[in-house]
Order: sequence, then structure tokens, then C-alpha cells
Amino acid sequence: MPRPIRASIDLEALRHNYLLARQRAGSARALAVVKANAYGHGIGRAIQALGGVADGFALLDLDEARALREAGITKPIVLLEGFFEPADLSDVQALGLTPAIHSEAQLVMLERAALAGPVDVLVKINTGMNRLGFTADTFAPALARLKAVPAVRGITLMTHFAHADDEVGVAGQLARFRQISAGLDCPVSLSNSAALLRFPKAAGQLVRPGIMLYGGSPMPELQSAEAIGLRPVMTLSSEIIGVQEISVGERVGYGGTFVADGPTRVGVVACGYADGYPRHAPTGTPILVGGRRTRTLGRVSMDMLACDLSHLPEAGVGTPVNLWGDGLAADEVAAAAGTISYELFCALAPRVPVSVRGAGA
Ligand SMILES: *Cc1c(COP(=O)(O)O)cnc(C)c1O
Repeated sequence: MPRPIRASIDLEALRHNYLLARQRAGSARALAVVKANAYGHGIGRAIQALGGVADGFALLDLDEARALREAGITKPIVLLEGFFEPADLSDVQALGLTPAIHSEAQLVMLERAALAGPVDVLVKINTGMNRLGFTADTFAPALARLKAVPAVRGITLMTHFAHADDEVGVAGQLARFRQISAGLDCPVSLSNSAALLRFPKAAGQLVRPGIMLYGGSPMPELQSAEAIGLRPVMTLSSEIIGVQEISVGERVGYGGTFVADGPTRVGVVACGYADGYPRHAPTGTPILVGGRRTRTLGRVSMDMLACDLSHLPEAGVGTPVNLWGDGLAADEVAAAAGTISYELFCALAPRVPVSVRGAGA
């Protein structure tokens, strides 16, 4: 028998979450953000679930874009970081991709490429994130140069919010965006998941939801995924493979960070940081054993972690465990570990076998 850890990907939940995002987007089209191997869920699986329904896709890698075209996807595919060297442009053209243009270097590549056919682009405006994009000073000349490139056809203006998920919000960046783009008659693309959910009026013509598609809340402190109506897509599960009965004062795991304050029944789960479970998850991180909620104990090891079975006498070797997903939001586990569900999903290790379920599976 293989080691009992596995991840299950629910294609129907993914489709449900996408349709919820699109419904929240009103009349805007919604690009499904499938970068980073669909946030760890497998880009092929994401396409299986969303290929028939999504208005388009957004990702980073040319190879992933090529895989989408080879899978028969004819909808727009946006490259969120654009292209990286002149040789990429022939692929952009041949595959009919929509690159983001965010830098002087990319402008120069476009000008020198002498592309034959039409290329749609997103021009990225830096409104305060200070990561990628043209500023109030550099945007107007960049746009003029883009418009002078004969192959450039549709131009969409884009920015990315730094505070869509917190109390600062989007008003400041939105005001700057409107100032920089005043008088221009171009479609705009502004919102990630958090902005789409919290500031629907700012949606523009094209939204870019990512984490919400995978059932993570983009703002777990403000609203749970369940309260938003999202369903978990990835369930990471395993089993109890060992049990120890320890008495007061005994310790669990590397460094002995957990010290029993009374008789404690310890379950050992076949899941560790080499599977993608966060090593920083401290004692007390929630975990489901046999469908019942309990807590982890001590440090997470490479291949195992421990949990408290003291109040679960029926649990023993072979009892199923959910690390996150069905019955336990990844957001909760992430919060306990001081991170976000995005990181948990993306960190799912290649050694974990993955199965799919749901319609289309
Ligand atoms: C990753 C990304 C998104 C999606 O963000 P979520 O918070 O996952 O919804 C949207 N836009 C850009 C530019 C991104 O890089």
C-alpha cells in the first residue's frame, strides 16, 4: 500500500467558484488566474474544469500558455509579466497571447520585433504597488510608442492593488489610476479576488480572480471562504499511522516543544513538510481526525506530524485525517502557521499523489 497521504482536487468546486467570481464581476469578463500551476492544483486539471466556462486565462509561463493552446483553449491568454526576451515574441504571436507590457525594455523589444500579425496587450500602470508598470511620468510616452507599433491592436489598461484585502482599500490607487488614464477610451483591468469581492464597482471590463477560484478567501480576517460562498477545491488528507500514550511532563517531536500537562493520547499522521504542510504550524494548529476537529502537537517533521487524540478514543491507526479542505478551511491552517492559503496550495509537494473528482473528472 502506498503511503496514505493524497490530495483530491474537486473540479466541480473549482467551476462553482469561477462562476461565483464571474457573477460578482457583473458585466466584466473574468480571466481565471492559473499561474503557478493553477496555485498548485495542476494547470491541466484547472483547464479540465474551466476550459468550457472561463472567459480567458492569466498566467506567467510561455510553456503553460502553449499547453493551454494545445489543449484546445481558444480564449484570450494573458501573460501577467509579459515576455522576457525578444525570442519570446514569436511565441506570443504564434500562440495569440496577450502580454502585459510593463517596462521600457519590453517596449523596445516590441518596436524592434517587426511582428506581422495583430497582438493585443495590457499596459500595466504602477499606481502604488511599486512592483511592475509605468508611472504617471512614463505612461503617456509609453502608450504613444505602443500605439505606433503597427502590430499592436487592442490595448487594455491594467493596474494591481496592494491593499484590496486590508483596511487601506483601493481608493487611493484607483484615484491615481483614473488620473493617469484620464481621457483614454480603453478597457481597464483592475481587480484581483479581494478587489472583486470588496469593491465590485471598481471591476472595469476585465477582472483577474485567482485565489477565490481555489476556494481560499482573499481576506480571511474579514470574511471566511465559506461566508463568501466558496467551496474548497484541494483537500489534503492522510491517516493516523501510529499512536503513543504519554504522561504528564513527556514531550513530543523534535526539540520537545510540546510538553504534556496530563495523560495525552498522541496520533502520528503521515504528513510532513516534505509533503507541503507548513513547518511553521505550531502546536494547536487545527486538524480533522475522523471528521472531528483537534489540534497538532509539537513540531512538524519532514514526513510526519503529531496530533491530540485525547478526546477522540475511537481514533487509531488507519483513521482518516484531513489536513485542510473538506471540513477544515485551508485559510484556518494557514493563519495558524502565519501564512496565507495561497502558499499552502502552491507548496503541495510533487510526491503527494493527486486525484480528481467532480463533474468532468
Ligand atoms: C496573481 C495575480 C492576480 C490574482 O490574485 P488573487 O489575489 O489570487 O486573486 C491578479 N492579478 C495579478 C497581476 C496577479 O499577479
